[in-house]
Amino acid sequence: MRIEPASHLQPAGTVLPPNESCEALARRLAAETEGEVLFDDASRGRYATDASIYQIMPAGVLVPKTERDIATAIDIARDLKVPVLARGGGTSQCGQTTGAALVIDNSKHFRRVLELDVEARRVTVEPGLVLDHLNAQLKPHGLWFPVDVSTSAQATLGGMAGNNSCGSRSIAYGNMVHNVAGASAWLSDGALVDFGPVSKLGARAADIAQHVQQLARQHHAEIAARWPKVMRRVAGYNLDIFDNQSEKPYTADGSVNLAHLLIGAEGTLAYTRSLTLKLSELPRSKVLGIVNFPSFHAAMDAAQHIVKLGPTAVELVDRTMIELALANPAFKSTVETALIGRPAAILLVEFSGDGKRALLSKLKDLGNLMGDLGLRGSVVEMPGDAPQKNLWEVRKAGLNIMMSLKGDGKPVSFIEDCAVPLEHLAEYTDALTAVFARHGSRGTWYAHASVGTLHVRPILDMRTDGAAKMRAIAEEASALVRKYKGAFSGEHGDGLCRGEWIEWQFGPAINEAFRAIKKKLDPIDLFNPGKIIDPPKMDEGALFRFAPPSAPRPYKRIPLVPVLDWSAWNVQADPVTEVTTAPGTGGDVTGGFAKAVEMCNNNGHCRKFDAGTMCPSYRVTRDEKHLTRGRANTLRLAVSGQLGPEAFTSEALYETMDLCVGCKGCRRDCPTGVDMAKMKIEFLAHYKKKHGHTLKDRLIAKLPDYAHTASRFPWLLNLRNTLPGAAWLGERLLGLSAKRSLPEWRSDTFWRDRDATMFVNRDMAIAAACVGRKVAVLFVDTFNGTFESENAFAAARVLKAAGYLVHTVEKDGGHHCCGRTYLANGMVDEAKAKAGALIDALLPLAEAGIAIVGLEPSCLLTLRDEALVMGLGAKAETVAQEALLFEEFVAREAKAGRFTLAFRPADKPILLHGHCHQKAFGAVSPILDVLKLIPDAKPELIESSCCGMAGSFGYEASHYEVSMQMAEAALLPAVRSNPDAIVVADGTSCRHQIADGAQREAVHVARLLDALKIDAAR
Ligand SMILES: Cc1cc2nc3c(=O)[nH]c(=O)nc-3n(C[C@H](O)[C@H](O)[C@H](O)COP(=O)(O)OP(=O)(O)OC[C@H]3O[C@@H](n4cnc5c(N)ncnc54)[C@H](O)[C@@H]3O)c2cc1C
Ligand code: SF4
Ligand code: SF4
Repeated sequence: MRIEPASHLQPAGTVLPPNESCEALARRLAAETEGEVLFDDASRGRYATDASIYQIMPAGVLVPKTERDIATAIDIARDLKVPVLARGGGTSQCGQTTGAALVIDNSKHFRRVLELDVEARRVTVEPGLVLDHLNAQLKPHGLWFPVDVSTSAQATLGGMAGNNSCGSRSIAYGNMVHNVAGASAWLSDGALVDFGPVSKLGARAADIAQHVQQLARQHHAEIAARWPKVMRRVAGYNLDIFDNQSEKPYTADGSVNLAHLLIGAEGTLAYTRSLTLKLSELPRSKVLGIVNFPSFHAAMDAAQHIVKLGPTAVELVDRTMIELALANPAFKSTVETALIGRPAAILLVEFSGDGKRALLSKLKDLGNLMGDLGLRGSVVEMPGDAPQKNLWEVRKAGLNIMMSLKGDGKPVSFIEDCAVPLEHLAEYTDALTAVFARHGSRGTWYAHASVGTLHVRPILDMRTDGAAKMRAIAEEASALVRKYKGAFSGEHGDGLCRGEWIEWQFGPAINEAFRAIKKKLDPIDLFNPGKIIDPPKMDEGALFRFAPPSAPRPYKRIPLVPVLDWSAWNVQADPVTEVTTAPGTGGDVTGGFAKAVEMCNNNGHCRKFDAGTMCPSYRVTRDEKHLTRGRANTLRLAVSGQLGPEAFTSEALYETMDLCVGCKGCRRDCPTGVDMAKMKIEFLAHYKKKHGHTLKDRLIAKLPDYAHTASRFPWLLNLRNTLPGAAWLGERLLGLSAKRSLPEWRSDTFWRDRDATMFVNRDMAIAAACVGRKVAVLFVDTFNGTFESENAFAAARVLKAAGYLVHTVEKDGGHHCCGRTYLANGMVDEAKAKAGALIDALLPLAEAGIAIVGLEPSCLLTLRDEALVMGLGAKAETVAQEALLFEEFVAREAKAGRFTLAFRPADKPILLHGHCHQKAFGAVSPILDVLKLIPDAKPELIESSCCGMAGSFGYEASHYEVSMQMAEAALLPAVRSNPDAIVVADGTSCRHQIADGAQREAVHVARLLDALKIDAAR
């Protein structure tokens, strides 16, 4: 990547320092710090974006290990005149985390709680600690940090302080600035300064305080006249700490705390080393009232009255969001519990306190209030904790639900957190809706009605006319904000998209006072230049991630012929109706692959460690490179030529994709549906075409071809596991880890000992005759057919005992293959041939409406996933519609009253580990349903991500360590801590990992049912 010389014509913070400075910086950081020094193009590219529309290549990245590393880096950067940009989760929406600077990533190593004083309700933390992780540590003490941002699983406390973040419950607890008690931070001259109550400041901090106080005095009249009088004002610097203008004063006793100057400063004044936070008592009880409104206007009008009841949150969800949630299977049933008919909008009104009874009377008050407002019977009361939690999850997912729109036009964040006084909220939202309509767009409204901050994003295409529309809409929105005496920047900060509005909001005199503050703390403009002071124009196309044609380097896609069918992404969407054009019509020269990659909007949701699968490799390494977002960004830069002409088949991209285990966690958990497992197949196909396949690739991919023959000589092949030196040799020659046992070969396979009463695919006439009877096709894959045939036998026995006629399909006296092992190695043509043959064999049975029942999740689900994008046409769709996992089939049949087999109780507890692909396809709850057919069974689901084996991944020597770390993250400890439990795991590789790592045998659910069945079908 070319580093361009600085130019005085370019906005601050957007042009890279000279090459020599960057090279010297990299050299010195490597020599003088213990941190990871990342100056290669791909690494820099991964840190060039945040959750905004902007992209600026940084000079380089440092992932520091120690505080000394950070201090040293600041000194070196100052010497070399390279700006410094502190970074947490990089989830900012306004571009404040992008810059032509040395980016220092705190999120990997600065995650500790330094001091906790439960009595005083104070905690001191490092800046890279994530909010949810802090709150998990506080929970046992009955405390929490209450600035509950939607990104609580990703946002770091340092980043939250940088942005003055605000949560859903800010009406009760305030913003970040109301909840910080102190900070320790480096100034650009290297001094480490404690910021806190002005009465206790050291000399350096006292000098700063005096300076700011003097400015506040000098500008008192302007401050009084221009400062928005709402709590949700996060623009500029907090000059009003000495002259409070906020609805909610920054401190309870009116004293001044200098740390508040750093809150919302977006890393432009100092580099935070630690933060001392005020904690709150965890509310013992909560109730929720959901008010259903016949019109959006009525909802907006009601907010001002509802807040008088003292709620802890009032959150809006509008009709579009309700419809989107109803259309999403994951949210539908939850949303339905909140609705009365089809409202135009709902308000979620939460009351918190010590006892449920008092809170229930608050719900009655809410009902009465709505009656007074002419909306009797409009409130759904939700006193239970679990339903409330589920509904909050839907609300938190609001933005992400909206961002899943395909096509080049996207909902764009630039006026999405204007805050207006509540009495004007209805007029403001009506007027802004009219503005959108005038500009051929539409907004979906949601979020913080309690404090007059509603999120709304018009759909714009930033590669075409988006910039012009963005400016026009912003101008009109700003006029409305001024009319209603609101704040233009009320939650997400200034960054690049709102920096230019600071002077508009506060006027030139206060803007100069802000400049004086910057000069006092950072006179050399070292920290995050171009933010707050001297920002660029919001519509500076050169800074867009998708730069328009007028920009010096417009965004373009390099033509590519994909091996998979990505046409579903190759569409355009109408900005008003959001209806998309037909697949394949979106004008993408990569057939839709690039558009699928571009679906990643950098929201950082994949940086999570809580429930769900995404993303196991990041959970282990905590490297941006091994995160779904990092991979998507690298792919996007590669397919758009920003990493050089051959980047898509480069080693840098291979390294980025290498630890992706293809678990499909992102397919389900990524809110915009980035399906990296599929993208890895596409990438590998191109990469391997250029670089060739290794012997190991071929050996693994072709396993289904030779498995049947090889199983005749198990004694020979099993020598690998027993003969001294054989495993070592295998590692040297093939790269398969010597620390692993390989699956045991055997001659008594399913195919040799198959029950003669099973019908095989030769008997299609019988299949037709079976229509209307209880019948199923058992698809026996390579693994269950060859290595673990007892699973296939067990499944057949269970189905037969339950009264089903059982078919199977075979090829040359052995198994058919779904193509999975070929896909995992990027051999898409071969995979297509295998899957095609399987589909041909299954088609007549599927056409007869017979369920195709599979045992191995990754094989069966290939029929519902990749087989549909390999060009196999309508027959693949037909087969996919009938393809079910064994547990899905049994659960379905049991629910319909057709599967009535009885079971003995299990004499041990049951522990369940879901295969990643089961999780990705929502097929874990059917196993739980099936296990509950066993009397008294209370199966416990292990909250685990990927087991780490992931097909052949964990067998490979280069992946062994990471594979074991993935398993140790949750799965293996859970298995070990339940020594008596029956462990159920349906994935072949999961069972192998459990055997290797915990020396325990896990079983397929079919085997457990087989062992416990006592009765034939009634
Ligand atoms: C889907 C979505 C939902 C969101 N919901 C909310 C919401 O409900 N409420 C809300 O307020 N925001 C929200 N945001 C915005 C964002 O998530 C928050 O502002 C969050 O607190 C940022 O945390 P971070 O760790 O990602 O910070 P980053 O983006 O990494 O950094 C934020 C700023 O802090 C500075 N900074 C970071 N560390 C330091 C340090 N050590 N010293 C000095 N400066 C530092 C950075 O330079 C940057 O200017 C949302 C964003 C998304 C994508
Ligand atoms: S991959 Fe998905 S979850 Fe991760 S940042 Fe991109 S859009 Fe968000
Ligand atoms: S497929 Fe799994 S490992 Fe790969 S990016 Fe997605 S979540 Fe991460």
